[in-house]
Amino acid sequence: MKHALVSDIHGNLEALTAVLTDIEKHKVDFIHCLGDVVGYGPDPAACLKMIDRSCDTKLMGNHEFTALGLQSSSIFNNAARAAVKWTQMQLTDNDMAIMADFEMDRMLDNMYLVHASPLEPEQWHYVFNEEEAVAAFQNLKTEIGFMGHSHLPLIFSEGPGERIRSQAGHTFQVGDESRYLINVGSVGQPRDNDRRACYVVFDTDEGDVFYHRVEYDIDAAQQKMATAGLPEVLISRLAAGL
Ligand code: ZN
Repeated sequence: MKHALVSDIHGNLEALTAVLTDIEKHKVDFIHCLGDVVGYGPDPAACLKMIDRSCDTKLMGNHEFTALGLQSSSIFNNAARAAVKWTQMQLTDNDMAIMADFEMDRMLDNMYLVHASPLEPEQWHYVFNEEEAVAAFQNLKTEIGFMGHSHLPLIFSEGPGERIRSQAGHTFQVGDESRYLINVGSVGQPRDNDRRACYVVFDTDEGDVFYHRVEYDIDAAQQKMATAGLPEVLISRLAAGL
């Protein structure tokens, strides 16, 4: 089976459309969305509808959780908070209902899917390094876990008798003896100095994990953000991939 994993779209319809078109070429069996469909970008409602139609799994991200009013936006920085307020104004009751149906996490055979860390998914812990991965692995009940949240394509692995290792996201084959926690990167706001949209395909028959990068029309996305009056810092970071 081939599984496509997308995360952190953040209202970027240009990036999402390019990624879904690219996914079609790979003839996958399932598409899983790991959350943060909204927030930051100019097309939250259109992205929600597209994800709702295209994906087999739809997980809650911290931006959905906040837009739904399930937690205070005071945990966000100024730009993110302004974007949450703007996003809430764009969403209809129907859009809110789509988000409210998103699951916190999902177990599929030997795969576990979650937005942030497997440790307390509703606390949205980040997993940036090996130290933070320790508790995440302790709470991972499967051989392989996929997450988003940091927007950084990263592979954490743990072999028998070995310390946890982290590597930048790259195409590789999973080993029998190891466990993995894989950050699939971000579709709509990459932060690893590569402005192209990022997603992953996992082929369970071959054990292959492929990272894909896709060019999209960044200028169009930025113009829409400017027209919407979204914070400048959010507009400029798209072109830098930061
Ligand atoms: Zn995010």
